[in-house]
Amino acid sequence: MYSSLLADATFHELLLACDQDLASQARQQGCRVCRSALHSANYPRKPRGRLCRLGPEHDWRFSLCCARQGCRKRTTPPSLRFFGPKVYLAATILVIAILREGATATRMRRLTEFIGVDRRTVERWRAWWRGVFPAIPFWQIARAAFMPPVDQNRLVTAMLERFAGSFAERMIALLRFLAPVIGGQAL
Ligand SMILES: [Zn+2]
Repeated sequence: MYSSLLADATFHELLLACDQDLASQARQQGCRVCRSALHSANYPRKPRGRLCRLGPEHDWRFSLCCARQGCRKRTTPPSLRFFGPKVYLAATILVIAILREGATATRMRRLTEFIGVDRRTVERWRAWWRGVFPAIPFWQIARAAFMPPVDQNRLVTAMLERFAGSFAERMIALLRFLAPVIGGQAL
């Protein structure tokens, strides 16, 4: 079952490692305003939709802050874990979208109970994938990476199908592809 991935600690450890890499890449580039060094300015999140217990390091959003007095510009690197300000993890939002695109009402109800997300939230996300996501500049450019074009009515599933490997590997590839959106930079 797709949702069992959300209970897989190894999967979440991989996402954390990816976010650590993205944060160190951003740190190497320095402040995008003045090129000064960046310091850690991580902040705590309380993510929902993770179905296993993990250490507190999983609840920190990596963020950086310019070290120079008078600039202090914040740089928040892309993330494979935290979907902008949304409380549910990016992986959970994708799993819900995949299931919503293919599910019967009964299966959907069981799933929302299992993950602990209400129907209104599921429908709000569906509207986001259908109405907001296709209009953002990132997707206007990035959709060209998919040939033939992906079916907009089952967008998340269609994108996932274009990556190779196990479900976990394809999910990480999709999260990596969407990282600029998930991290909030491209919204
Ligand atoms: Zn600066």
